[in-house]
Amino acid sequence: MTNHVGSPERPLRCAVIGAGPSGFYVAAAILKETGHTATVDMFERLIAPHGLVRYGVAPDHANIKAVAKTYDRTAAEPGFRYFGNVAFGEDITHEELKRFYDVIFYTTGAQSDRRLNIPGEDLPNSMSATEFVAWYNGHPDYKDLNVDLSCEAAIVVGVGNVAMDVARILAKSVDELKGTDIADHALAALAESNIKDIYVVARRGPAQVKFTNAEIREMGHLELADTVVLDRELRLDRASSAAIEGDTAMQKNLDYLRAYTEIGLTGKPRRVHFRFLLSPTEIIGEDGKIVAVKLERNELRPAVSGDIKASGTGQFETIPAGLILRSVGYKGVPLPGVPFDKRNGVIPNEVGRVIDLDTGRTIAGEYVAGWIKRGPTGVIGTNKPDSVESVNSMFDDLQQGKIPPAAEPDPAAVTALLQARGVRFVTQEAWKQIDAAEVSAGKERGKPRVKIIDKAAMLAVLGE
Ligand code: NAP
Repeated sequence: MTNHVGSPERPLRCAVIGAGPSGFYVAAAILKETGHTATVDMFERLIAPHGLVRYGVAPDHANIKAVAKTYDRTAAEPGFRYFGNVAFGEDITHEELKRFYDVIFYTTGAQSDRRLNIPGEDLPNSMSATEFVAWYNGHPDYKDLNVDLSCEAAIVVGVGNVAMDVARILAKSVDELKGTDIADHALAALAESNIKDIYVVARRGPAQVKFTNAEIREMGHLELADTVVLDRELRLDRASSAAIEGDTAMQKNLDYLRAYTEIGLTGKPRRVHFRFLLSPTEIIGEDGKIVAVKLERNELRPAVSGDIKASGTGQFETIPAGLILRSVGYKGVPLPGVPFDKRNGVIPNEVGRVIDLDTGRTIAGEYVAGWIKRGPTGVIGTNKPDSVESVNSMFDDLQQGKIPPAAEPDPAAVTALLQARGVRFVTQEAWKQIDAAEVSAGKERGKPRVKIIDKAAMLAVLGE
Protein backbone atom coordinates (compact mmCIF):
# COMPACT_ATOMS: atom_id res chain seq x y z
CA MET A 1 0.00 0.00 0.00
CA THR A 2 1.64 3.25 -1.08
CA ASN A 3 -1.08 5.82 -0.49
CA HIS A 4 -1.63 5.29 3.22
CA VAL A 5 -1.95 8.38 5.45
CA GLY A 6 1.57 9.67 6.04
CA SER A 7 2.89 8.63 2.63
CA PRO A 8 4.17 11.12 0.01
CA GLU A 9 1.02 10.37 -2.04
CA ARG A 10 -1.29 11.03 0.91
CA PRO A 11 0.53 13.18 3.47
CA LEU A 12 -0.77 13.29 7.02
CA ARG A 13 -2.81 16.50 7.26
CA CYS A 14 -2.33 18.33 10.57
CA ALA A 15 -4.04 21.48 11.84
CA VAL A 16 -2.40 23.42 14.67
CA ILE A 17 -4.61 25.89 16.54
CA GLY A 18 -2.57 28.77 17.99
CA ALA A 19 0.69 30.23 16.65
CA GLY A 20 2.56 30.59 19.93
CA PRO A 21 5.76 28.78 20.95
CA SER A 22 4.12 25.39 21.56
CA GLY A 23 2.31 25.58 18.19
CA PHE A 24 5.62 26.12 16.42
CA TYR A 25 7.35 23.37 18.41
CA VAL A 26 4.53 21.00 17.44
CA ALA A 27 4.80 22.01 13.78
CA ALA A 28 8.60 21.59 13.83
CA ALA A 29 8.38 18.14 15.42
CA ILE A 30 5.77 16.97 12.90
CA LEU A 31 7.66 18.25 9.86
CA LYS A 32 10.99 16.88 11.12
CA GLU A 33 9.73 13.33 11.48
CA THR A 34 11.40 11.36 8.73
CA GLY A 35 9.25 8.23 8.78
CA HIS A 36 6.15 10.00 7.49
CA THR A 37 5.19 12.76 5.09
CA ALA A 38 3.06 15.38 6.78
CA THR A 39 1.78 18.90 6.22
CA VAL A 40 0.90 21.48 8.87
CA ASP A 41 -1.69 24.25 8.56
CA MET A 42 -1.43 26.65 11.51
CA PHE A 43 -4.49 28.73 12.46
CA GLU A 44 -4.15 31.87 14.57
CA ARG A 45 -6.86 34.26 15.78
CA LEU A 46 -4.55 37.28 15.47
CA ILE A 47 -2.78 38.37 12.31
CA ALA A 48 0.69 38.15 13.87
CA PRO A 49 2.18 34.80 14.89
CA HIS A 50 4.48 33.96 17.86
CA GLY A 51 1.99 34.37 20.73
CA LEU A 52 3.72 35.15 24.01
CA VAL A 53 7.07 35.73 22.29
CA ARG A 54 5.54 38.79 20.63
CA TYR A 55 2.84 39.76 23.15
CA GLY A 56 4.13 38.38 26.48
CA VAL A 57 7.93 38.49 26.73
CA ALA A 58 9.03 41.84 28.14
CA PRO A 59 10.23 44.30 25.47
CA ASP A 60 13.56 44.78 27.28
CA HIS A 61 14.26 41.02 27.02
CA ALA A 62 15.16 41.05 23.33
CA ASN A 63 17.42 38.00 23.71
CA ILE A 64 14.41 35.84 24.67
CA LYS A 65 12.52 37.09 21.60
CA ALA A 66 15.34 35.89 19.33
CA VAL A 67 13.70 32.43 19.44
CA ALA A 68 11.21 33.75 16.86
CA LYS A 69 13.89 33.11 14.22
CA THR A 70 13.52 29.37 14.89
CA TYR A 71 9.76 29.67 14.38
CA ASP A 72 10.38 31.48 11.08
CA ARG A 73 12.54 28.59 9.93
CA THR A 74 9.69 26.16 10.66
CA ALA A 75 7.26 28.45 8.84
CA ALA A 76 9.54 28.40 5.79
CA GLU A 77 9.31 24.58 5.50
CA PRO A 78 7.54 23.43 2.32
CA GLY A 79 4.85 21.50 4.24
CA PHE A 80 3.81 24.52 6.34
CA ARG A 81 0.99 27.00 5.72
CA TYR A 82 -0.02 29.91 7.98
CA PHE A 83 -3.60 31.08 8.37
CA GLY A 84 -3.46 34.24 10.50
CA ASN A 85 -6.64 36.17 11.36
CA VAL A 86 -8.73 32.98 11.53
CA ALA A 87 -10.59 32.40 14.79
CA PHE A 88 -11.24 28.79 15.76
CA GLY A 89 -14.94 28.27 16.41
CA GLU A 90 -15.91 31.46 14.55
CA ASP A 91 -14.25 31.55 11.14
CA ILE A 92 -13.84 27.79 11.04
CA THR A 93 -15.52 25.24 13.27
CA HIS A 94 -14.25 22.16 15.02
CA GLU A 95 -16.40 19.96 12.76
CA GLU A 96 -15.04 21.57 9.61
CA LEU A 97 -11.47 21.08 10.76
CA LYS A 98 -12.20 17.42 11.48
CA ARG A 99 -13.37 17.11 7.86
CA PHE A 100 -10.17 18.63 6.43
CA TYR A 101 -7.51 17.27 8.78
CA ASP A 102 -6.50 13.86 10.06
CA VAL A 103 -5.07 15.46 13.17
CA ILE A 104 -5.77 18.61 15.22
CA PHE A 105 -3.35 20.03 17.80
CA TYR A 106 -4.60 22.63 20.28
CA THR A 107 -1.81 24.99 21.35
CA THR A 108 -3.77 28.02 22.51
CA GLY A 109 -1.83 28.70 25.72
CA ALA A 110 -3.40 30.37 28.74
CA GLN A 111 -5.12 33.53 27.61
CA SER A 112 -6.81 34.58 30.82
CA ASP A 113 -5.68 35.21 34.39
CA ARG A 114 -6.48 34.23 37.95
CA ARG A 115 -8.22 36.61 40.34
CA LEU A 116 -7.67 37.50 43.97
CA ASN A 117 -11.39 37.52 44.81
CA ILE A 118 -11.14 40.43 47.24
CA PRO A 119 -13.32 43.54 47.60
CA GLY A 120 -12.32 46.40 45.29
CA GLU A 121 -10.72 44.15 42.68
CA ASP A 122 -12.91 45.61 39.92
CA LEU A 123 -12.07 49.26 40.63
CA PRO A 124 -10.50 51.13 37.72
CA ASN A 125 -6.68 50.74 37.71
CA SER A 126 -6.88 47.31 39.35
CA MET A 127 -6.01 44.86 36.60
CA SER A 128 -4.17 41.68 35.85
CA ALA A 129 -0.51 41.77 34.94
CA THR A 130 -1.57 39.78 31.87
CA GLU A 131 -3.58 42.77 30.63
CA PHE A 132 -0.85 45.26 31.50
CA VAL A 133 1.75 43.13 29.70
CA ALA A 134 -0.49 42.82 26.63
CA TRP A 135 -0.97 46.61 26.69
CA TYR A 136 2.72 47.51 26.73
CA ASN A 137 3.47 44.81 24.15
CA GLY A 138 0.98 46.22 21.63
CA HIS A 139 -1.57 43.36 21.68
CA PRO A 140 -4.46 44.58 19.50
CA ASP A 141 -7.11 43.56 22.08
CA TYR A 142 -5.52 45.66 24.85
CA LYS A 143 -4.39 48.84 23.11
CA ASP A 144 -7.20 50.84 24.72
CA LEU A 145 -6.66 49.50 28.25
CA ASN A 146 -7.09 52.36 30.66
CA VAL A 147 -3.81 52.51 32.57
CA ASP A 148 -3.54 55.52 34.88
CA LEU A 149 0.07 56.15 35.94
CA SER A 150 -0.64 59.48 37.64
CA CYS A 151 -0.49 57.91 41.15
CA GLU A 152 2.70 57.73 43.21
CA ALA A 153 2.68 54.04 44.14
CA ALA A 154 1.81 50.73 42.49
CA ILE A 155 1.36 47.30 44.03
CA VAL A 156 2.25 44.12 42.15
CA VAL A 157 0.77 41.02 43.78
CA GLY A 158 2.79 37.80 43.30
CA VAL A 159 6.50 37.07 42.97
CA GLY A 160 6.82 35.16 39.71
CA ASN A 161 8.72 36.30 36.63
CA VAL A 162 5.67 38.11 35.27
CA ALA A 163 5.56 40.20 38.47
CA MET A 164 9.25 40.99 37.92
CA ASP A 165 8.58 42.02 34.32
CA VAL A 166 5.78 44.45 35.18
CA ALA A 167 7.63 45.91 38.18
CA ARG A 168 10.74 46.46 36.06
CA ILE A 169 8.82 48.11 33.22
CA LEU A 170 7.19 50.48 35.73
CA ALA A 171 10.60 51.24 37.25
CA LYS A 172 12.57 51.79 34.05
CA SER A 173 13.31 55.14 32.47
CA VAL A 174 12.20 56.12 28.98
CA ASP A 175 15.87 55.96 27.95
CA GLU A 176 16.05 52.34 29.10
CA LEU A 177 12.93 51.44 27.11
CA LYS A 178 12.96 53.55 23.98
CA GLY A 179 15.30 51.23 22.07
CA THR A 180 12.98 48.23 22.64
CA ASP A 181 9.88 47.17 20.71
CA ILE A 182 7.55 48.43 23.47
CA ALA A 183 4.29 49.80 22.04
CA ASP A 184 4.44 53.54 21.35
CA HIS A 185 1.26 54.21 23.37
CA ALA A 186 2.81 52.51 26.42
CA LEU A 187 6.11 54.37 26.13
CA ALA A 188 4.22 57.67 25.89
CA ALA A 189 2.20 56.81 29.02
CA LEU A 190 5.29 55.62 30.93
CA ALA A 191 7.11 58.84 30.00
CA GLU A 192 4.44 60.74 31.95
CA SER A 193 4.38 58.25 34.85
CA ASN A 194 4.31 59.65 38.34
CA ILE A 195 4.97 56.29 40.01
CA LYS A 196 7.86 56.38 42.45
CA ASP A 197 7.23 53.36 44.64
CA ILE A 198 6.51 49.89 43.30
CA TYR A 199 5.69 47.23 45.90
CA VAL A 200 6.11 43.59 44.86
CA VAL A 201 4.11 41.67 47.43
CA ALA A 202 4.51 37.96 48.24
CA ARG A 203 1.99 35.99 50.29
CA ARG A 204 4.75 33.62 51.40
CA GLY A 205 8.40 34.18 52.31
CA PRO A 206 11.66 34.79 50.44
CA ALA A 207 12.34 31.04 50.26
CA GLN A 208 9.13 30.54 48.25
CA VAL A 209 9.63 33.10 45.49
CA LYS A 210 8.95 31.97 41.92
CA PHE A 211 11.21 34.42 40.09
CA THR A 212 14.54 33.28 38.67
CA ASN A 213 18.08 34.53 39.36
CA ALA A 214 18.45 36.68 36.25
CA GLU A 215 15.24 38.56 37.06
CA ILE A 216 16.18 39.45 40.66
CA ARG A 217 19.72 40.36 39.55
CA GLU A 218 18.33 42.84 37.00
CA MET A 219 16.62 44.73 39.80
CA GLY A 220 20.07 45.85 40.95
CA HIS A 221 20.79 47.54 37.64
CA LEU A 222 17.92 49.94 37.20
CA GLU A 223 18.90 53.46 36.20
CA LEU A 224 16.16 55.23 38.14
CA ALA A 225 15.23 52.80 40.91
CA ASP A 226 16.71 51.42 44.12
CA THR A 227 15.62 47.96 45.23
CA VAL A 228 14.41 47.87 48.81
CA VAL A 229 14.24 44.70 50.92
CA LEU A 230 13.59 44.62 54.66
CA ASP A 231 16.18 42.64 56.57
CA ARG A 232 13.59 41.40 59.07
CA GLU A 233 11.50 39.87 56.29
CA LEU A 234 14.41 37.74 55.07
CA ARG A 235 14.68 35.69 58.25
CA LEU A 236 13.71 32.14 57.42
CA ASP A 237 11.63 29.81 59.56
CA ARG A 238 13.01 26.34 60.13
CA ALA A 239 10.78 24.59 57.55
CA SER A 240 11.73 27.06 54.82
CA SER A 241 15.45 26.73 55.56
CA ALA A 242 15.16 22.96 55.38
CA ALA A 243 13.09 23.10 52.17
CA ILE A 244 15.71 25.06 50.25
CA GLU A 245 18.78 23.23 51.50
CA GLY A 246 20.85 22.32 48.46
CA ASP A 247 18.64 24.42 46.16
CA THR A 248 21.36 26.60 44.66
CA ALA A 249 19.00 28.72 42.55
CA MET A 250 16.90 29.61 45.58
CA GLN A 251 20.03 30.28 47.67
CA LYS A 252 21.21 32.63 44.96
CA ASN A 253 17.86 34.45 44.98
CA LEU A 254 18.31 34.93 48.72
CA ASP A 255 21.85 36.20 48.23
CA TYR A 256 20.55 38.87 45.86
CA LEU A 257 17.77 39.84 48.27
CA ARG A 258 20.28 40.07 51.15
CA ALA A 259 22.61 42.17 49.03
CA TYR A 260 19.78 44.65 48.44
CA THR A 261 19.25 45.06 52.18
CA GLU A 262 22.94 46.00 52.44
CA ILE A 263 22.97 48.40 49.50
CA GLY A 264 19.84 50.15 50.78
CA LEU A 265 18.71 53.47 49.37
CA THR A 266 21.14 55.28 47.12
CA GLY A 267 18.93 58.27 46.40
CA LYS A 268 17.43 57.18 43.08
CA PRO A 269 14.02 58.75 42.41
CA ARG A 270 12.13 55.43 42.26
CA ARG A 271 12.08 52.37 44.47
CA VAL A 272 11.10 48.72 43.94
CA HIS A 273 10.15 47.29 47.34
CA PHE A 274 9.96 43.55 47.94
CA ARG A 275 7.56 42.71 50.75
CA PHE A 276 6.96 39.22 52.11
CA LEU A 277 4.28 37.37 54.07
CA LEU A 278 1.47 39.71 53.05
CA SER A 279 -1.87 38.92 51.38
CA PRO A 280 -4.07 41.71 50.01
CA THR A 281 -7.52 41.51 51.61
CA GLU A 282 -9.10 44.66 50.19
CA ILE A 283 -8.44 47.26 47.52
CA ILE A 284 -9.63 50.53 49.02
CA GLY A 285 -11.20 53.14 46.76
CA GLU A 286 -12.33 56.72 47.28
CA ASP A 287 -14.60 58.41 44.73
CA GLY A 288 -14.05 55.46 42.37
CA LYS A 289 -10.24 55.68 42.55
CA ILE A 290 -7.88 53.28 44.27
CA VAL A 291 -6.13 54.92 47.22
CA ALA A 292 -4.64 51.98 49.14
CA VAL A 293 -4.49 48.25 49.65
CA LYS A 294 -5.19 46.54 52.95
CA LEU A 295 -2.99 43.48 53.54
CA GLU A 296 -2.99 40.77 56.14
CA ARG A 297 0.28 39.66 57.64
CA ASN A 298 0.88 35.91 57.16
CA GLU A 299 2.88 33.25 58.89
CA LEU A 300 4.13 30.09 57.25
CA ARG A 301 2.88 26.63 58.13
CA PRO A 302 4.13 23.34 56.71
CA ALA A 303 1.14 21.44 55.28
CA VAL A 304 0.65 17.68 55.30
CA SER A 305 1.38 17.70 51.56
CA GLY A 306 4.90 18.93 52.35
CA ASP A 307 4.08 22.37 50.95
CA ILE A 308 4.71 25.45 53.04
CA LYS A 309 1.51 27.48 53.18
CA ALA A 310 0.68 31.05 54.17
CA SER A 311 -1.83 31.54 56.93
CA GLY A 312 -3.30 34.87 58.10
CA THR A 313 -2.33 36.23 61.52
CA GLY A 314 -5.18 38.71 61.93
CA GLN A 315 -2.70 41.59 61.81
CA PHE A 316 -3.09 44.08 58.98
CA GLU A 317 -1.21 46.87 57.31
CA THR A 318 -2.24 49.35 54.65
CA ILE A 319 -0.07 50.52 51.75
CA PRO A 320 -1.20 53.66 49.91
CA ALA A 321 -1.23 52.99 46.16
CA GLY A 322 -3.22 53.91 43.06
CA LEU A 323 -2.42 51.04 40.68
CA ILE A 324 -2.79 47.33 41.43
CA LEU A 325 -1.43 44.64 39.14
CA ARG A 326 -2.32 41.11 40.16
CA SER A 327 0.33 38.75 38.88
CA VAL A 328 -0.90 35.51 40.37
CA GLY A 329 -0.84 33.28 37.31
CA TYR A 330 -2.38 32.83 33.88
CA LYS A 331 -5.44 30.65 33.19
CA GLY A 332 -6.49 28.69 30.11
CA VAL A 333 -9.81 29.38 28.38
CA PRO A 334 -12.10 26.74 26.84
CA LEU A 335 -12.35 26.27 23.05
CA PRO A 336 -15.77 25.66 21.49
CA GLY A 337 -16.40 21.95 20.99
CA VAL A 338 -13.23 20.88 22.83
CA PRO A 339 -13.22 19.23 26.29
CA PHE A 340 -12.07 21.51 29.12
CA ASP A 341 -11.00 20.87 32.69
CA LYS A 342 -12.40 23.98 34.39
CA ARG A 343 -10.69 23.40 37.70
CA ASN A 344 -7.19 23.35 36.24
CA GLY A 345 -7.87 25.55 33.21
CA VAL A 346 -6.47 22.97 30.77
CA ILE A 347 -7.67 20.59 28.05
CA PRO A 348 -7.79 17.16 29.75
CA ASN A 349 -5.25 14.86 28.19
CA GLU A 350 -3.15 11.77 28.52
CA VAL A 351 0.40 12.37 27.31
CA GLY A 352 -1.05 15.00 24.93
CA ARG A 353 -4.04 12.94 23.72
CA VAL A 354 -7.28 14.88 24.34
CA ILE A 355 -9.67 13.07 26.67
CA ASP A 356 -13.45 13.14 26.42
CA LEU A 357 -14.56 13.98 29.97
CA ASP A 358 -17.85 12.08 29.60
CA THR A 359 -16.37 8.77 28.54
CA GLY A 360 -12.88 9.18 30.01
CA ARG A 361 -11.47 7.96 26.66
CA THR A 362 -9.10 9.67 24.28
CA ILE A 363 -10.56 11.37 21.21
CA ALA A 364 -9.00 10.02 18.02
CA GLY A 365 -6.88 12.54 16.10
CA GLU A 366 -7.01 15.35 18.71
CA TYR A 367 -3.96 16.46 20.68
CA VAL A 368 -2.81 19.28 22.91
CA ALA A 369 0.53 20.89 23.81
CA GLY A 370 1.96 23.77 25.84
CA TRP A 371 0.22 25.74 28.61
CA ILE A 372 -3.27 24.56 27.59
CA LYS A 373 -1.96 21.01 28.14
CA ARG A 374 -0.08 21.35 31.43
CA GLY A 375 -0.97 24.77 32.86
CA PRO A 376 0.98 28.07 32.85
CA THR A 377 4.38 26.90 34.07
CA GLY A 378 7.91 26.93 32.77
CA VAL A 379 9.82 29.13 30.37
CA ILE A 380 9.36 29.24 26.59
CA GLY A 381 11.86 26.43 26.01
CA THR A 382 9.89 24.13 28.36
CA ASN A 383 7.26 23.93 25.63
CA LYS A 384 9.63 22.20 23.22
CA PRO A 385 9.93 18.81 24.98
CA ASP A 386 6.26 19.12 25.97
CA SER A 387 5.26 19.53 22.31
CA VAL A 388 7.57 16.74 21.16
CA GLU A 389 5.91 14.43 23.71
CA SER A 390 2.46 15.14 22.24
CA VAL A 391 3.69 14.74 18.66
CA ASN A 392 5.25 11.38 19.61
CA SER A 393 1.87 10.25 21.01
CA MET A 394 0.30 11.24 17.71
CA PHE A 395 2.83 9.33 15.58
CA ASP A 396 2.43 6.26 17.84
CA ASP A 397 -1.33 6.44 17.25
CA LEU A 398 -0.81 6.82 13.50
CA GLN A 399 1.48 3.81 13.48
CA GLN A 400 -1.17 1.77 15.27
CA GLY A 401 -3.92 2.82 12.86
CA LYS A 402 -5.77 4.76 15.55
CA ILE A 403 -6.22 7.94 13.49
CA PRO A 404 -9.22 7.88 11.14
CA PRO A 405 -8.42 9.60 7.82
CA ALA A 406 -10.07 12.96 7.11
CA ALA A 407 -12.97 12.95 4.65
CA GLU A 408 -11.68 15.94 2.62
CA PRO A 409 -7.88 16.02 2.85
CA ASP A 410 -7.42 18.19 -0.25
CA PRO A 411 -5.34 21.23 0.91
CA ALA A 412 -7.40 23.45 -1.39
CA ALA A 413 -10.66 22.60 0.43
CA VAL A 414 -9.90 24.71 3.50
CA THR A 415 -8.78 27.78 1.56
CA ALA A 416 -11.90 27.48 -0.63
CA LEU A 417 -14.13 27.37 2.44
CA LEU A 418 -12.46 30.41 4.07
CA GLN A 419 -12.58 32.37 0.82
CA ALA A 420 -16.25 31.50 0.25
CA ARG A 421 -16.95 32.70 3.79
CA GLY A 422 -15.11 35.99 3.22
CA VAL A 423 -12.49 35.30 5.90
CA ARG A 424 -9.41 37.44 5.14
CA PHE A 425 -6.74 34.95 6.17
CA VAL A 426 -3.15 36.15 6.30
CA THR A 427 -0.59 33.78 4.80
CA GLN A 428 3.03 33.40 5.91
CA GLU A 429 4.13 35.42 2.89
CA ALA A 430 1.74 38.25 3.80
CA TRP A 431 2.87 38.15 7.43
CA LYS A 432 6.50 38.46 6.31
CA GLN A 433 5.53 41.68 4.49
CA ILE A 434 4.04 43.10 7.70
CA ASP A 435 7.07 41.89 9.66
CA ALA A 436 9.43 43.58 7.17
CA ALA A 437 7.48 46.86 7.47
CA GLU A 438 7.78 46.75 11.27
CA VAL A 439 11.50 46.00 11.17
CA SER A 440 12.19 48.71 8.62
CA ALA A 441 10.26 51.30 10.68
CA GLY A 442 12.31 50.14 13.69
CA LYS A 443 15.60 50.70 11.87
CA GLU A 444 14.80 54.36 11.42
CA ARG A 445 14.24 54.73 15.16
CA GLY A 446 17.00 52.46 16.51
CA LYS A 447 14.54 49.77 17.65
CA PRO A 448 14.25 46.09 16.68
CA ARG A 449 10.82 46.91 15.22
CA VAL A 450 7.91 49.30 15.55
CA LYS A 451 4.93 47.07 16.19
CA ILE A 452 1.87 47.66 14.08
CA ILE A 453 -1.03 47.23 16.45
CA ASP A 454 -4.34 47.60 14.62
CA LYS A 455 -5.63 44.88 12.37
CA ALA A 456 -6.59 47.54 9.79
CA ALA A 457 -3.07 49.05 9.84
CA MET A 458 -1.56 45.58 9.33
CA LEU A 459 -3.84 44.93 6.37
CA ALA A 460 -2.96 48.39 5.01
CA VAL A 461 0.66 47.20 4.69
CA LEU A 462 -0.71 44.53 2.35
CA GLY A 463 -2.32 47.25 0.27
CA GLU A 464 -5.85 46.79 1.59
P1 NAP B 1 4.17 31.98 38.68
O1 NAP B 1 5.61 31.80 38.45
O2 NAP B 1 3.34 30.77 38.91
O3 NAP B 1 3.98 32.99 39.91
C1 NAP B 1 2.73 33.28 40.44
C2 NAP B 1 2.89 34.03 41.74
O4 NAP B 1 1.60 34.39 42.20
C3 NAP B 1 3.54 33.22 42.86
O5 NAP B 1 4.40 34.03 43.58
C4 NAP B 1 2.33 32.80 43.71
O6 NAP B 1 2.62 32.61 45.05
C5 NAP B 1 1.48 34.04 43.58
N1 NAP B 1 0.07 33.79 43.89
C6 NAP B 1 -0.78 32.89 43.37
N2 NAP B 1 -2.00 33.02 43.90
C7 NAP B 1 -1.93 34.04 44.79
C8 NAP B 1 -2.85 34.64 45.65
N3 NAP B 1 -4.13 34.25 45.69
N4 NAP B 1 -2.44 35.68 46.44
C9 NAP B 1 -1.17 36.09 46.39
N5 NAP B 1 -0.22 35.55 45.60
C10 NAP B 1 -0.61 34.53 44.81
O7 NAP B 1 3.45 32.71 37.44
P2 NAP B 1 3.86 33.89 36.47
O8 NAP B 1 4.71 34.90 37.10
O9 NAP B 1 2.54 34.31 35.88
O10 NAP B 1 4.69 33.16 35.34
C11 NAP B 1 4.16 32.11 34.54
C12 NAP B 1 5.29 31.31 33.92
O11 NAP B 1 5.93 32.09 32.91
C13 NAP B 1 6.36 30.94 34.92
O12 NAP B 1 6.81 29.65 34.67
C14 NAP B 1 7.45 31.96 34.66
O13 NAP B 1 8.74 31.55 35.03
C15 NAP B 1 7.32 32.15 33.16
N6 NAP B 1 7.91 33.46 32.78
C16 NAP B 1 9.24 33.48 32.51
C17 NAP B 1 9.85 34.68 32.21
C18 NAP B 1 11.32 34.70 31.93
O14 NAP B 1 11.90 33.65 31.72
N7 NAP B 1 11.96 35.85 31.97
C19 NAP B 1 9.11 35.87 32.17
C20 NAP B 1 7.74 35.81 32.46
C21 NAP B 1 7.16 34.58 32.77
P3 NAP B 1 2.66 31.12 45.70
O15 NAP B 1 3.99 30.56 45.31
O16 NAP B 1 2.50 31.37 47.14
O17 NAP B 1 1.51 30.34 45.07
